[in-house]
Amino acid sequence: MPADKNFDSRADIIQSCLKMNAMGINQGVSGNVSVRHGDDSMVITPTGIPYETLEPDDLVEMRFDGAFAGPLQPSSEWRIHRAIYSMRSDVDAVVHAHPLFATALAIQKLTIPAIHYMVAVGGGATIPCADYATFGTEQLAENVVSALEGHTVCLMEHHGLVATGPSLEVAMHRAAETENLARQYVITRLLGEPKILSDSEMHRVLAKMVDYGLRRKLNE
Ligand SMILES: [Zn+2]
Repeated sequence: MPADKNFDSRADIIQSCLKMNAMGINQGVSGNVSVRHGDDSMVITPTGIPYETLEPDDLVEMRFDGAFAGPLQPSSEWRIHRAIYSMRSDVDAVVHAHPLFATALAIQKLTIPAIHYMVAVGGGATIPCADYATFGTEQLAENVVSALEGHTVCLMEHHGLVATGPSLEVAMHRAAETENLARQYVITRLLGEPKILSDSEMHRVLAKMVDYGLRRKLNE
């Protein structure tokens, strides 16, 4: 991949981080963002640096064998990002954050059921929750990849969420929509037992979203 393309990705990553702050998805410096870079590496946000001060050179280019160059350390959750890129050829961007409502559901190990047709942005009829493991561990990366099977988004028990996509724009959209759905689900639970869309309706919605995505691609 040419260097200028890499520079574009870095600018996009910083924009996405600032967007996460503006949308209230991120809590402090707990979010991290990456994009796939070539066959065996990714560009990922560094650990512990406030997004407002991020410069393109602060982002860390890291190979999937764990090697990286530069003065700054990669995000402590780099193993999640690496595991997703290794297992999912459909993913070129990953967003991880601890937004309030998604994290509240994850603390209770709740899956978001089909309360709204937009649950389909997660690629299935529900948005699942990955099993807990200590932050930064290989076990957590494995749990997240396993929860993401058949999905593009998942919650993470006692932790937050992960959203993936073929681009940063899509991954960010999915992260924001998941937090929105989480908020709807928390509020709906206060009103009583949430009503759930049927499996057949969710199949219809999922098929329609794939069709819509394809049409958008063809028109680009
Ligand atoms: Zn985290």
